[in-house]
Amino acid sequence: MRTETYQVKGMHCASCSSTIEKTFKKVEGVESVKVNYGTEKAKVSFDPSKTNPEALSRQIEPLGYSLLVPTAREMGMSVDEHAAHLGVNQSKKEKLAEVVDMRSKVVSAIPLAAVSIFIMSWDILARYNAAPVMGEVTSEFFHHLLPLMATYTLFVVGKPYLLGFYRFLRYGKANMDTLIGIGTLTAYLYSLAVTAFEEVLKPFIDVSVTYYDVTIIVITFIALGKYLEARSKLKTGDAIEKLLNLQAKTALVMRDGKEVEVGVGEVKHGDLIIIKPGAKIPVDGVVAEGSSFIDESMVTGESMPVQKKVGDTVVAATINTSGSFIFKATKVGSETLLAHIIQMVEDAQGSRAPIQALADKISSVFVPITLAIAFLTLGAWLSIGTGLLGFSQALSYGLVSFVGVLVIACPCALGLATPTAIIVGVGKGAKEGILIKDAATLEKLHKVDTVIVDKTGTITIGKPTLVDIQNMSNLKSDELISVLASLEKKSEHPIAHAIVNYAQERNINAESVTDFESIQGKGLKGVVNGVTYYVGNAKLIKDLGVSFDASKIDLFTAQGKTPVILATQDNVLGFVMVADEVKTESKQAIVDLHKLGIKVVMLTGDDEKAAKHMASLVGIDDVIAHVSPQDKLEKIKDLQSQGKVVAMAGDGVNDAPALAQADVGIAMGTGTDVAIETAGITLLGGDISKLVKAVKLSKLTMRGIKQNLFWAFIYNIVGIPLAAGLFYPIFGWLLSPVFAGFAMAMSSVSVVSNSLRIKAKTL
Ligand code: ADP
Ligand code: MG
Repeated sequence: MRTETYQVKGMHCASCSSTIEKTFKKVEGVESVKVNYGTEKAKVSFDPSKTNPEALSRQIEPLGYSLLVPTAREMGMSVDEHAAHLGVNQSKKEKLAEVVDMRSKVVSAIPLAAVSIFIMSWDILARYNAAPVMGEVTSEFFHHLLPLMATYTLFVVGKPYLLGFYRFLRYGKANMDTLIGIGTLTAYLYSLAVTAFEEVLKPFIDVSVTYYDVTIIVITFIALGKYLEARSKLKTGDAIEKLLNLQAKTALVMRDGKEVEVGVGEVKHGDLIIIKPGAKIPVDGVVAEGSSFIDESMVTGESMPVQKKVGDTVVAATINTSGSFIFKATKVGSETLLAHIIQMVEDAQGSRAPIQALADKISSVFVPITLAIAFLTLGAWLSIGTGLLGFSQALSYGLVSFVGVLVIACPCALGLATPTAIIVGVGKGAKEGILIKDAATLEKLHKVDTVIVDKTGTITIGKPTLVDIQNMSNLKSDELISVLASLEKKSEHPIAHAIVNYAQERNINAESVTDFESIQGKGLKGVVNGVTYYVGNAKLIKDLGVSFDASKIDLFTAQGKTPVILATQDNVLGFVMVADEVKTESKQAIVDLHKLGIKVVMLTGDDEKAAKHMASLVGIDDVIAHVSPQDKLEKIKDLQSQGKVVAMAGDGVNDAPALAQADVGIAMGTGTDVAIETAGITLLGGDISKLVKAVKLSKLTMRGIKQNLFWAFIYNIVGIPLAAGLFYPIFGWLLSPVFAGFAMAMSSVSVVSNSLRIKAKTL
């Protein structure tokens, strides 16, 4: 089974996505398919032995769509190829061409619509004696000009709508273009019949009234709306393009002892790359020689340049400041962090938010229901209306209502409401260093009322240092440290780094360790020179049953320091204290979370007193200490069963199960080694204040979506009965199809611009 995402060409409305989905599902070998109208992408899972993208594309071509099947594949591609692979630049070019074509058609139609509006207004004013009746010659001239203008508008500008009608007749597939096609064609054909057979029809109907102006104006408005919508939709997706443009085009590589400039696609693993002052880092790698400060803001959002020395990781797209250095390429092409970020943003923008389900359901049944309502309306006018107003008048009103209902009922705005806001929201997040996995996560985040934070690395910097040594044995202090460091060398915990670094700085030798075992949430054990040692917290010592006066460590833990106790099976040999600093931004972030009505709980495996001290420094409400990773999971389940919506922010390494259990898992990426896949949200640069921004972004996006849905529904709920003439008997209101066209165009335009507003808001 293969899963691929393709750009879809030719989609013009929300119901197109369900049409394409249904068509693909019928194809043998297709397991699942999701088509997103907002991003114009189709995600298809299929069996490559039974079908292929080209065959799939042929299935939808008669319906007016096609798949763009990329040819470039996998690693080591140039920027353009990479973009092509992601379906970004390529489709952007095509979309631009489409927008230019739409614009020229709209521009040609606007003068015609203006003339029609002028004639229409004159006629109305003359009827109320507010303007002189048009002279015979002028009137004849205009009334012959109208059919010509209507013919051009309908067949040239309105071609997509006529094609929609044609596809409906041919394949039975209706979409919103079909509705507009039927509506405007009806007005046109009726008017044409009146013009052609004026004398024959005169005894039956009012031949002084034609609807050419309706055809012209409605098509112009809708084409204008579609053009404005397409233009703004181009803007909603520009976050990805900006990310792509971050990529360096070339790299200066050492080949056979010489510096050679090669395309970034040609860089291979292990290549030594020379970085001069001000140069862009072309791929991911590790510094091999020299050092410099690098501006990583484009991938981490961190504005301060970061120092890089031999052994440090550098990532593609970041910019060197004034130093120069050489690094070894470790990740190229689609393996780089930037490529992962782009892929993730793309996927998230194309994913469907749960809130969209309702809109999808409605727009898929909308078209047939609208057609039915339109015909019912016409029928009602002809039957009931004829009795009250006479046939001629009833036919006239019936036609107006028929066209009006078809035009106003377009579910376009409904289909655009959610995806456009999601695209803008996810893109805005990416710019701030907030990577969102999918639309569902973004949606869930705004409901979060409890945030659980890990202490080490989330609230604190996560780089503890050894600050105190208490030797309680007859070993020399260096020997004690040697044993400790030997054991800690095997551990990944931040505490371990503190001890190993301390030993290394003082050139204290490490011994070899056997039977190493890590004890979850407590510490570790191992054998050095034939002796079994235990290293860990007070809980570990208590479990061992070794006597230890715990009050000895109280003095330190009260200051927020963490004890690491070394013991054998029988004795405590001593302990060291490690201390970590609170991140500068932590305190403000907690204040801001509180302002958003979110309770913050610190969950840590650390000592309770130490944890409480750290919590009080930053203003955290609640501390749960001495918990194992498994307990963290249980604690989250507990909160969830109390009806809390819980987000968990952690380092994503030993917190993975808890991150998965939380409603929203937030990984604190350190910028270079991001665990992108494990969490719903990754905060690049490991900055907790971004969590506040992420919550605000979620609230902003959800508010945008709700406003969009509200307006899209209101247009239809009020518009359809109004256009059908339901209020005519009561208030004498009958909506002109011209206004229906205007309203429908405005509804789409207002939804897309409302989504774009999210971009401008500060978080
Ligand atoms: P946290 O991520 O909150 O620190 P852990 O479950 O990773 O939680 O660790 C819990 C506690 O176990 C630590 O605070 C520390 O006291 C002890 N511990 C874990 N690993 C080590 C280690 N390698 N050396 C010493 N103590 C450790
Ligand atoms: Mg941890």
